[in-house]
Amino acid sequence: MYIEILGSAAGGGFPQWNCNCANCHALRSGIFHGKPRTQTQLAISIDRRSWILLNASPDLRLQIESSSFLHPEDGLRNSPIAGVLLTSGDIDQIAGLLSLRELQPFRVYCTPSIRRILQEDNSAFAMLSRVPRQVSWTEIHPGQNFSLLDTTGNDSGICASVFSLGSRYPAYVSKQRANQLCGEDALLGVILQASGQTLAYLPAVPAIDDALLHRLQSADLLLFDGTFWSDDELIKVQGGGATAREMGHVPVSGADGSLRKLASLDRPRKIFIHINNTNPMLDEAGPEYREVRDAGWEIAEDGTRFEL
Ligand SMILES: [Zn+2]
Repeated sequence: MYIEILGSAAGGGFPQWNCNCANCHALRSGIFHGKPRTQTQLAISIDRRSWILLNASPDLRLQIESSSFLHPEDGLRNSPIAGVLLTSGDIDQIAGLLSLRELQPFRVYCTPSIRRILQEDNSAFAMLSRVPRQVSWTEIHPGQNFSLLDTTGNDSGICASVFSLGSRYPAYVSKQRANQLCGEDALLGVILQASGQTLAYLPAVPAIDDALLHRLQSADLLLFDGTFWSDDELIKVQGGGATAREMGHVPVSGADGSLRKLASLDRPRKIFIHINNTNPMLDEAGPEYREVRDAGWEIAEDGTRFEL
C-alpha cells in the first residue's frame, strides 16, 4: 500500500491567511525553523494507477497539481482518483469535494448522516450530482468492513474498516439538525489493510480510551491527531476561545495528552498529522519538537510518502 501525505496541517494551513501568531509570523519572515504545510490530505493506492483520497481538503486542487501521479493520463478528461473516504463533515475534510465537480465520475464513501448534511442541507454539493453516475455516494457504517474500489469499479485490494470516535457535528450543522442525525456517524477513525499491512488514520481524536489503544496496537503505521500541543493553546494565543478538547482534539502534551496516553503502543510507527499553525512542535529548533522526536514520534510533512 502506497501512502502519500499531500497535506499535514489542520484547518487554515500553515501559515493561516489571517494569523499572525509566533509561528505564522516567523514563517512569513523567513526565520522559522520548520516547514509550511497545506491542509491535511492523504492519497493511498495499491498500484499507483488508481488512488483513493482520505478526505478532501480545501487545498485539494493545488495538492493534485503538485502530485504528478494524480494527473490525468489518457484521453481528454480522465483522473486516477477513484474515490474519497470522508471521516467527518468538517469543512477542512469536505471543501475539496467542490473542486472535483467537473463531471468526472468518482465514489464518495461516508456515513449516512454526513451524506444527508452534504446532499440535503448544502445545495452547492448538488454540483456533484448533475448527471447520472457522476458521484456514486456509498454509505458506510461504524463497525463495517468494506473494500475500496478502483477507477474501474473493481476491488482495489484495500480493505477499510471504520469506527466512531465522537458524536459532535461541525458548527455549521444546527443543533436541531444534529439531533436528527445519528451521533456515531459524526466522526470516524479509519483502519486500512492491504497485503497484511495496516494503516490507522485518525486526524481528529476527542478522547483516548483503552478500546482505542487496543485497536491501534495492531497498526503498522499510525497517523494521529497532532492538532494542538496544549489544551489551552488557542486561548493563550488569542486571549479567549475554546480549549483543544472542546474542539474535539486531545492535545499532544500533558498528563492526559496523546504523547503519554499512546506511549505504550510499541508496534506502530507513530506520526502526528493535522497540526495547527499555533502548535509549538512545528518549530524544529524548539523543545516541544525535541520532546516529540525523543518520544519516538514523527511529525508529518507535505510530500512524505510511505510504502507498507
Ligand atoms: Zn498562526
